[in-house]
Amino acid sequence: MNLVKPRVGLEINAMTEYLNHAISRTGNVITLPPQPVADGCPTGLYDGHNRRIDYLRISVTDRCNLSCIYCGDGRCDNLPHEAILTYEEITRTAGILAGMGISHVRLTGGEPLVRPKVDVLITMLKRLGGIDEISMTTNGTLLDRWSDLLKKAGLGRVNVSVDSLKADRFREITRGGDLARVLAGISSAKRAGLNPVKINTVVMPGVNDDEIIDFARWTLDGAANVRFIEQMPFTHNAGSVSVADMTTTIESAFGRLEPVFEHGSGPASYFRLPRASGTIGFIKPVSNCFCDNCNRLRLTADGKLRLCLLDDSELDLKPMLRSDLTDAEIALALHQAIIKKPARHHLADGIVPEKLMRQIGG
Ligand code: SAM
Repeated sequence: MNLVKPRVGLEINAMTEYLNHAISRTGNVITLPPQPVADGCPTGLYDGHNRRIDYLRISVTDRCNLSCIYCGDGRCDNLPHEAILTYEEITRTAGILAGMGISHVRLTGGEPLVRPKVDVLITMLKRLGGIDEISMTTNGTLLDRWSDLLKKAGLGRVNVSVDSLKADRFREITRGGDLARVLAGISSAKRAGLNPVKINTVVMPGVNDDEIIDFARWTLDGAANVRFIEQMPFTHNAGSVSVADMTTTIESAFGRLEPVFEHGSGPASYFRLPRASGTIGFIKPVSNCFCDNCNRLRLTADGKLRLCLLDDSELDLKPMLRSDLTDAEIALALHQAIIKKPARHHLADGIVPEKLMRQIGG
């Protein structure tokens, strides 16, 4: 059945009972007539490899007030404003995807807090049916003035990137960042109840790997939940410290790490030091590809649906959102793209994305 003429360069042919059911699930998009769903038909959104997809990371801007050495290239080739999705366009896309099975949204960037009135976007997303959780990844520099507003708007929790606990080194890694402001931001997020606040630390050999023990110590009194991330080679052929080596370093200083059955929506595995109240997480995109359990999609600031962080295939949604396509027609295009989500990334073969992390949305 040919449902939609290829008005924006897309052939959209298929419609399944499953999709009809998914679209009507939350009431966000009810433009397709309801159809009976066969008993036993799975609900939710699945890709072509039978992975359940329920997590959307939305980059609200490609702009950032820092320029971390592993993330950007220090250039200011930001997208023009008209290329960026409006809050209405982001909310519409999230609503369509929520109707298909997305239940957790994370706002990221660039730096999400440099886009004006990001609390308004959170309120708009919160009003959508079907999204159970809204979280944010931020560099924390503006958090102290935002935490209360974000909480009030409906944000659940924040992850804050901190790659050094030494002020000078922090400034170098971030090309100008102020560690004290970030620490103040973390405190304000905790006070506002954006808990658990998780710290993201990219471990870079020869740059900050001598601070693994200091970061681990931060978890002892519950002041922090730290997630160590293996560096992915976005900006240069960067080396990475393996999680096995990080574990050895931590255990030789503090004793055995105990597994913790806490989880977010992501690929981290969590542990705790003896008698510690904070947790230590490890994310290993390099040494242990976790693609088999990948549950996520990304929406870039300029409206590309990205199916895999490390694969450049994208669906350009912006022309569709700015055309007369209906929500149902866009849902069909989304569905056809999601079915083709790549099975895995190819970092091990040296294949890295052309875009930088800040352009994709980390
Ligand atoms: N500006 C926000 C921040 O700093 O958290 C959000 C955007 S940032 C791109 C999101 C996350 O991506 C951060 O936690 C950062 O550490 C991570 N990231 C960026 N480049 C990376 C790389 N090359 N390898 C591993 N993680 C990276």
